[in-house]
Amino acid sequence: MSKPATTREPADRHRRRRAAEESPAAQDATAAPGADDEPLSQPTAPTDAPPATAQAASAPEAPPDRAAPRTWPDEADPKRKKVPEGLWMRCVACGEMLFRKALEDNLHVCTNDKCQHHYRISASQRVQQLCDPGTFEPMDEHLVSADPLHFTDLKPYPERLKSEIERTGRNEAVTTGSGYIHGRRVMLAVLDLTFMMGSMGSVVGEKITRAIERATEQDWPLIIVCSSGGARMQESTLSLMQMAKTSAALAQFDDAGGLYISVLTDPTTGGVTASFAMLGDVILAEPGALIGFAGPRVIQQTIRQDLPDGFQRAEFLKKTGFVDRVVKRAELRREISRIIDYGGK
Ligand SMILES: [Zn+2]
Repeated sequence: MSKPATTREPADRHRRRRAAEESPAAQDATAAPGADDEPLSQPTAPTDAPPATAQAASAPEAPPDRAAPRTWPDEADPKRKKVPEGLWMRCVACGEMLFRKALEDNLHVCTNDKCQHHYRISASQRVQQLCDPGTFEPMDEHLVSADPLHFTDLKPYPERLKSEIERTGRNEAVTTGSGYIHGRRVMLAVLDLTFMMGSMGSVVGEKITRAIERATEQDWPLIIVCSSGGARMQESTLSLMQMAKTSAALAQFDDAGGLYISVLTDPTTGGVTASFAMLGDVILAEPGALIGFAGPRVIQQTIRQDLPDGFQRAEFLKKTGFVDRVVKRAELRREISRIIDYGGK
């Protein structure tokens, strides 16, 4: 999601700058550089970081004279892009410059010890992080949403689905399958924010229900890693019914003596929170994850009171009893396998 945004911004910047150059106002020596500086610093802020390198790259081309900005978009930009997009990024939480590769090696957790911001990751990254290498076998990957309501928002739902499928290379917002975690066989379901914000439509509900039923049959522990914007608007009531469906399947799983570990990650909201996310025998959460039903702003406007510090964050929910344990990403595998052993599964 961030990628298309960053690639679009520079284009806008160019357009704006070109427009500025063409307009007579741009000839004003003081106005032009000022106007240039601002749009620049913003888009590059995430990458600005290795300030030395970024400036070194731009400095040789830019400084000679004031006319330089005109050639800037064509000549200097490729170099600028190279430094920012690839190697470095600025942490959204602490503002430190992070070496991207180090962040990836650290399971996408900020490498600044004082910060340790847990970045959102895709379902495939999560599966890779949790499962023993090469053990994950996906299920029901072919399922695709239908459009019985003929829903149209800005564009028809089937079109939206098609473009999401093309963009993400996946058919729906959840990955389910079996795998091993530290040698323990598990049924795993992982929601994916990259596909329509991990929203729960009929296919998400169906895949999760099938995963629960398979876990019931096989007597495997069930792990669901939640991250979702909630129910899928485009499927209206059909998506709300997934709350009942998944909950009913979990009740049967529970009757059969199954162990269900729910892992809440940033953000877990709406209908997902109101159903399977909160039904775990053990509920784990990643540090700092936003977990709630309605968003804080909506609640604040409704009750007209200031909300307490850390409201709807994992640590707050642990204090109030909704979450059993806040577990760092690096310790999730070990924690899950320990709970499985403890549950005798
Ligand atoms: Zn950080």
